[in-house]
Amino acid sequence: MATYVTSCKGNEQLVFKGYLYEFESQKLERVYWRCTEVKRGCKGRAIEDANGLREGRNSHDHPSRTMEIGVKRVLAEIKSEADIQHGQTPHAIVASAVSNLPAAIQGALPSTSAIKKQIQRRRKVFSGQHSAPSSICDFTLSDQFVLTNSGERFLLDDTGGDRDRINVFATDRNLHVLNEDTWIGRPMRYGRTRRAPLFSIDLWNQYNSTLDHLPRTNNSVEGWNRRFSSLLAAANPVIWKFIDTLKSEQTMRELKLS
Ligand SMILES: [Zn+2]
Repeated sequence: MATYVTSCKGNEQLVFKGYLYEFESQKLERVYWRCTEVKRGCKGRAIEDANGLREGRNSHDHPSRTMEIGVKRVLAEIKSEADIQHGQTPHAIVASAVSNLPAAIQGALPSTSAIKKQIQRRRKVFSGQHSAPSSICDFTLSDQFVLTNSGERFLLDDTGGDRDRINVFATDRNLHVLNEDTWIGRPMRYGRTRRAPLFSIDLWNQYNSTLDHLPRTNNSVEGWNRRFSSLLAAANPVIWKFIDTLKSEQTMRELKLS
């Protein structure tokens, strides 16, 4: 029922009844775990003592998403392994991805035969009909590459034609959130306040003219670029794989937004 996992920072975390907890404090023989959503205001706790684990008095102010996110993450990893490790059989890829997972997530995954079929289908698509274009003008984007995995419009602009061709990938909703994050702050899910935007309202409201001097890149952009390059794991990916990796990343971001 309960599983202990290690966070990306190396701290022990507890998965209990579909919620993820981090260590809060220990009093005598009793350990208090707090919900990892504590920074967003959740008061959910789990208490562990000689009688085992139980939930604290306050309930969570959000639905449990731990399993769902864990499962999506594993499937995304399998997909990218399948693209990179061409020599590996689907069976070997699934086996190595699944072997070290917490039991709770293993149980929530689709069947291994279903995942293996997905890998095979995916490899067929990428090896067959989509060979690498010879130049930037020499490809047209089929539906598979202009829509997100959930079917929303993803290609917002394609300048087409010549050597300076530019394709813009984003969804309308994602652009809206980006705009909010940057300038006014995204509304909190529960309550009427907004989170702090990247650039405070005072800053752009009163000193609009200084905006021209803001750095054109920042740590979070560079961090994303690094992560995205490692996802691609190749310096010159075929355009199809590049767009598909963008789509996977968009799906992951969507999960974090909702
Ligand atoms: Zn919670």
